[in-house]
Amino acid sequence: MAEPKYTLEKIKFATDNPTYKKACELYESGKIMNFDDNGFTYTAKVKGTEIYNVVVDTKYYDRGSCDCYLGKNDTLCKHMVAVAIYALLRGKKIPAEDKDVIINPICSNKIGELSKEEFANIKVEISASIKHVKAYSGPSRTWFAYQDSLSEGVHRLSAIVSKLPVSLQTAELLVSLLLRLDKKLISGGVDDSDGVVGGFMQEVVGVLLEFTKKDAETIKAFKKLLGIETCFGWEELLVAVYDKSIASH
Ligand SMILES: [Zn+2]
Repeated sequence: MAEPKYTLEKIKFATDNPTYKKACELYESGKIMNFDDNGFTYTAKVKGTEIYNVVVDTKYYDRGSCDCYLGKNDTLCKHMVAVAIYALLRGKKIPAEDKDVIINPICSNKIGELSKEEFANIKVEISASIKHVKAYSGPSRTWFAYQDSLSEGVHRLSAIVSKLPVSLQTAELLVSLLLRLDKKLISGGVDDSDGVVGGFMQEVVGVLLEFTKKDAETIKAFKKLLGIETCFGWEELLVAVYDKSIASH
């Protein structure tokens, strides 16, 4: 018997969304058969178009094998992810909050501030998530693993942003998150050729614009952006809103 060294949260944020969703469906519709745990790997047969033989590492949910087309090409497939979920839950239901994955940050539409304790916790969560947005140092064969790490960071941050209430306090938090990511793109060695991080930053700007519609106080948070130069000019829309609010007073 071996407890997995990974969590459902890890699988949820690190797997591409369509694969994760299909894996949840396979798991919930009882397509995993003959599950076995030898202490080092989990093995099972998964019923898809055919019956596939799947092996998953107990330490890394994305290591193992599957004899489906994707698995044979060394690509993480829904069958492996489904067996990894089975190893964690062993037949129990997938918690509702782990079924819908937030891919893009959205505005919570709730007005209010975080308590001192909530604020401190969110800051810890942001720091833990931002670690996945790291410098690229490996050879090109690790490129895909590197991109996966950026995606995982962005998925985790999206979930955090989407639960923030609307207030000046949280608007300031988002502005400083954008500035941290901007610094990583400019001088932190992050290779965002696929635009995963940049796309996320643009979406956070969209969330901040939503904030200003719910609570005009939040515009004050953009003052910090005056006169700075960012990697791709993401601050321009926010500065424009700030300038407009000043002009109308
Ligand atoms: Zn497969």
